[in-house]
Amino acid sequence: MDFNDTPQEAEYRAKARAWLEDNAAEYREPPETAWKLDEFIQRSKAWQAKKFAAGYTGITWPKAFGGQGLGPMQSIIYGQEESRFHAPSGLYSIGLGMCIPTVFTHGSAEIAERYVPKALVGDEVWCQLFSEPSAGSDLAGIRTRAVQDGDEWVIDGQKVWTSFAHASDYGIVVTRTDPSVPKHKGLTMFIVDMKAPGVEVRGIKQMSGGSDFNEVFFTGVRVKDTHRLGDVGNGWKVALTTLMHERLAVGGKPRHAPGYETLMKLARGVEAPVGGPAIEAGDVRQRIAQSYINDQGIKLTQMRALSALSRGQMPGPEQSISKVVVAKTMQEMASFALDLAGGDGFVTGADGDPELAKLQGSYLGAAGLRIAGGTDEILRNIIAERVLGLPGDLRPDKDKPFNAAA
Ligand SMILES: Cc1cc2nc3c(=O)[nH]c(=O)nc-3n(C[C@H](O)[C@H](O)[C@H](O)COP(=O)(O)OP(=O)(O)OC[C@H]3O[C@@H](n4cnc5c(N)ncnc54)[C@H](O)[C@@H]3O)c2cc1C
Repeated sequence: MDFNDTPQEAEYRAKARAWLEDNAAEYREPPETAWKLDEFIQRSKAWQAKKFAAGYTGITWPKAFGGQGLGPMQSIIYGQEESRFHAPSGLYSIGLGMCIPTVFTHGSAEIAERYVPKALVGDEVWCQLFSEPSAGSDLAGIRTRAVQDGDEWVIDGQKVWTSFAHASDYGIVVTRTDPSVPKHKGLTMFIVDMKAPGVEVRGIKQMSGGSDFNEVFFTGVRVKDTHRLGDVGNGWKVALTTLMHERLAVGGKPRHAPGYETLMKLARGVEAPVGGPAIEAGDVRQRIAQSYINDQGIKLTQMRALSALSRGQMPGPEQSISKVVVAKTMQEMASFALDLAGGDGFVTGADGDPELAKLQGSYLGAAGLRIAGGTDEILRNIIAERVLGLPGDLRPDKDKPFNAAA
């Protein structure tokens, strides 16, 4: 296994690094206080437009759709280089990472022409409307329905946990169009205008104080048939395109997650209960060593995924392993760091220690990471079935008509 860049990859990395040095200087350090939503949106749009002009958006997309026509390695290299900065890219991660590739894969040429360029330059923001109150891990169990009325469809139902719905112009929505067939067969996907009459977005307050996701209610929302993605009843296959693109994001530990370096710094500055610097206490040293081992394991597992990509293969189940370990490690390390910090780790106002505020943010965000994009239990099921070859999960409703199984 050779973890070094090929000469072409090294050249691409050097070019991207130089561009970022020149253009992302203002994002070298994290903001002192978190941006308010308006400022975040305005900064995100400006940053996206800048990247678009320089050719660092849609890196793997076909040129016909405004992309760069390059491979996943270039996309990952750019992502690695950008992650050295604190530029505001998150607003587009779902839209450009998952929604728009689904739109140009399953929408008509007219639809792609209308929506793709505006998303790529950052003018229009997209969200993914999949989860419902009773359908998250079991996505095919959704109940939001769409009924055809001439050349339009009428959507009624509710979605939940929709990240950035409050900042989005459009979304891709999974609906049930035929409840009389098994649950995977009666689904259809549409593009929905988030400002259309009948769409109501209600923010969910998170324990971190933020409000990144929402409940979305649909009441008689009309969508033109031209905005259907794929065939009627083929929505499961279309949704899999979206989820496949999620797999391509060979994400590592979130940038703000505490690692062994954070713990060492903290442990040098605080006192152990028995006196003396905490770094000298055996149990503290052991936890820090464990954090180092986890970090290295995560890094090497991601290298394995990158090696597969560079050979033209899709990453395999190592992605599920990484996700489980990253989320669990982040939660454990943040919790340990806050224990070390004692009462100082409880930061409520803007005048608290920014480093400790970041640790608190990691701690409060880690629980969500263990759920988003596949819960620990679901990923463990995948590892059990696809890596270890254990018998599959019981799926008694798989072949029954949806309205008979419910
Ligand atoms: C930060 C964040 C952002 C999100 N953003 C979006 C978004 O933009 N768009 C969107 O559509 N959704 C989004 N989601 C929703 C997310 O996809 C779901 O929360 C997730 O799929 C889990 O579904 P659920 O919450 O319905 O839990 P459930 O599926 O009801 O699971 C509840 C518990 O039961 C366990 N469980 C369920 N089935 C099994 C099984 N077969 N075997 C073992 N255990 C099982 C689960 O692991 C979990 O612990 C987001 C979630 C988070 C946390």
